[in-house]
Amino acid sequence: AAAPSAARTRTSPVEPVEVTIGTGVEATGPLQVLGVPGQVNLDYAATAPCARAAADAVAELLPWYGSVHRGAGALSRRSTLAYERARQDVGDFLGVRPDDSVVFTRNTTDALNLLARALPPGTRVVTFAAEHHANLLPWPTGAVRLPVPDSAGAAVRAVDAALRELRRGSGGEAPILVAVTGASNVTGECWPIADLARIAHRHDARIALDAAQLAPHAELDVTALAVDYVAVSGHKLYAPFGIGVLAGRADWLDAAPPYLAGGGATLGVGPATHDVRWVDGPGRHEAGTPNLLGAVALAAVCNALAEADRAALYADEQALLARLRSGLAGLPDVVELRTFAVDAPRVGIVSFVVAGRDSAEVAADLAQHWQIGLRDGLFCAHPLARRLLTEAADRSGRRDLPPTALRASIGLGSTAAHVDRLLAALASLATPR
Ligand code: PLP
Repeated sequence: AAAPSAARTRTSPVEPVEVTIGTGVEATGPLQVLGVPGQVNLDYAATAPCARAAADAVAELLPWYGSVHRGAGALSRRSTLAYERARQDVGDFLGVRPDDSVVFTRNTTDALNLLARALPPGTRVVTFAAEHHANLLPWPTGAVRLPVPDSAGAAVRAVDAALRELRRGSGGEAPILVAVTGASNVTGECWPIADLARIAHRHDARIALDAAQLAPHAELDVTALAVDYVAVSGHKLYAPFGIGVLAGRADWLDAAPPYLAGGGATLGVGPATHDVRWVDGPGRHEAGTPNLLGAVALAAVCNALAEADRAALYADEQALLARLRSGLAGLPDVVELRTFAVDAPRVGIVSFVVAGRDSAEVAADLAQHWQIGLRDGLFCAHPLARRLLTEAADRSGRRDLPPTALRASIGLGSTAAHVDRLLAALASLATPR
């Protein structure tokens, strides 16, 4: 047979077009998401599709942008205003305090690395083995990594005990940071953030929230939660890649050496190597020409979400999630991964395995035969995923579970039809082709 031509192997249109959705989350307006017809995207937890609000904001900006913070011309002045306005809008969306710093970063990983570099000397960090690698690996040597708890209450008790121990022992008067996720990228389970914040503050510690997965799904108010720092990624929040945020208490950030050294972060540079005066405020950690398009796109989505009926969006998502989970529970070979023994509030993320089937092969099959995109692997949370796979084997009594898992995640634009397609595809795996 002749080799397939390039034209014949091209499988999907390259132009992103609107996905019109049937049921579920908001169908029109600024929160409509872009997509490719025929492709069922169930991989929002990795990267969510772009919202109309972000695309429109970028399109509007393209003709007239100029250098941010670095020019006297009209385009430059307008761009600087747009950038600082975006900072304000994103901060408002996150519910920051008036004196908090809102630093634009590349993503959550970048934001948490920035925070790790800004810790006062001697800071002790407490985190859980349940974290995404972005909230596991940046912390200084000696960070306390608590075992994966089996309930929200156990998580709070573990942090309480760890902080008590630190204050009694080597931690003494040292600054302490508790770093936790808002919603797990593996299970979607929400962590008891307000309780953890209360415990942290009782021990005179601070708390940082990895909200990469929480912020796209649920309202988040840093002030109400009494969280000291929050990190988010634009590309999981319906904005493009390359923009993220670290927001929170300004004192540590202003006292720290700049995360990046370079133009924009300085007040003045003298002739001697170390003769540099750094600015306070977010610019201290934003050296180099900033990502104006990303910031403005992210702010546009934040504003659109702030204006939407988020309770209704959340309810729609929960309905789809329930449909997905009960469908999975009805499939004899499917075992869901869970951290907490009793059902906890969750965002639209579910991980599972198909007993007797290799997860990478299942994912490839779903992509090839069903046009379904989801994630397989250990989801950049190896300690957690491995632990949950062992727990799933114990709970189900199945000895034929694969060593990696599958993850389906939903959000704006997801529909019952998408969920049903996945369930039908998984059901068909039982029937040999
Ligand atoms: N934290 C959590 C909970 C995540 O799910 C992710 C990404 O999947 C990250 C942090 C890192 O996000 P990014 O890759 O955008 O830096």
